[in-house]
Amino acid sequence: MSSKVMRRKLFQSLQNMRNPKFQKYSEFFEKSQWSSQQELKNYQLEKLKKLIKHSYENVPYYREMFQEKNLQPEDIRKIEDLEKIKITQKESMKKGFESKSVIAKNFSDYNAKVVKTSGSTGSPLTHLRGNKSTIISEALMLRYYRWMNVEQGHKQVLLWGRSARINAYKIIRKKIHRCIRGITEFHTHGWGKRDYLECLKIIKRIKPEIIRGYTPNIFLIANIARELGIEDITLKGVSTTAQTLFEVQRKIIEDQFNCKIFDQYGGSESLIAACECEEHCGYHVMDEHVILELVDGKGLPDGVKKIVITDLDNWAQPFIRYENGDLAESLDGYKCKCGRGLSMIKSIKGRTQDIVVTQNERYFTLHPFTSLFYNFLGIDQFQIIQDTRAHITIKIVKNNNLTEKDISFIKNKLDPLLQGSLSYTIEYVEKIKTSGTDKLKILISNLNDA
Ligand SMILES: [Zn+2]
Repeated sequence: MSSKVMRRKLFQSLQNMRNPKFQKYSEFFEKSQWSSQQELKNYQLEKLKKLIKHSYENVPYYREMFQEKNLQPEDIRKIEDLEKIKITQKESMKKGFESKSVIAKNFSDYNAKVVKTSGSTGSPLTHLRGNKSTIISEALMLRYYRWMNVEQGHKQVLLWGRSARINAYKIIRKKIHRCIRGITEFHTHGWGKRDYLECLKIIKRIKPEIIRGYTPNIFLIANIARELGIEDITLKGVSTTAQTLFEVQRKIIEDQFNCKIFDQYGGSESLIAACECEEHCGYHVMDEHVILELVDGKGLPDGVKKIVITDLDNWAQPFIRYENGDLAESLDGYKCKCGRGLSMIKSIKGRTQDIVVTQNERYFTLHPFTSLFYNFLGIDQFQIIQDTRAHITIKIVKNNNLTEKDISFIKNKLDPLLQGSLSYTIEYVEKIKTSGTDKLKILISNLNDA
């Protein structure tokens, strides 16, 4: 028996011990992905009705909301009826968590854990997640790995930001767990080029099947590998998550690791909400687990809508029509060539943190900036600081490859890009600090009204 198969078997046994239902969910999702759109919608509706009834009976926040609108749970008869329910913003969810009004009275029935996620505006969202929602997300995660043609027990490298402060017991438990699963994990917070080089050497040695992590961190390591001429790393896939994946980043990462990127979208409240399949023509929504609506918003670029999400499985703290601040482009009625019935979105656009707002209420997504800056081998990293609605500071970590010609090219491009709405200062820095959250942010907004 190969070590990979042994690891898989050991991991499966541990997982079954931890939650006997994992296997059942996993088998169900393997089949349900091939169901028709209508069948999946019917399945969603059944789950939604139960969630609404539970929330009305046990969650004060939703009960009050229903009563205000004179709604009864029975009024939600089809998915479209969701529109009758008010959208909940992040602030309300935060306040509701503090006052406990968004938490189910019987939350202890759902074996819930407190989860803290670094939200899109940098302020973390603390919430309760029931065990069922977590196990279902993990089963969907396995299905997504299979889209990359990898199985449980495959070797993978994780590239995250700073590790959370956890106690020694948890660290040991996590290490054993990761070892069984074949996972090597790195936290790249504050790394310099030499650290990335070491990491690349380890990757070459252990030969993982996939690399998974935050998009900017993976992009950075791909960029450094490109700069150093390291071309002999071949993966089955790269799984990026947590921030917008720009086309220019996708190309560099794919070229560098000789594989395709399978971008995954989770949102701050749900572990997995949508991801790319092997056709790479959009994101399949995990319809069995979430209802993902796209709604119009003021001042957004053409075709871009706000994501409003309903987690069908978290009964400890239900998220019903929750606006998480992320944006996407729709792909209504599109049928993916893979044949799966799961609904689709075209792309995850600039999240809220990826948008610069000007005094004349213009919005700039970061796509043009990334296309401009990341095209130069001489630029290792960049970050935009929005100081005011009239001014941005662009921090650049450069290396010896950046020429005077490149700099004047960038400046010539910046003026038309900013359309006279913003002035800018370029600042060359040694390092870009990541503060507060563990993600490497391209945009920091210092606007008080953001
Ligand atoms: Zn597909």
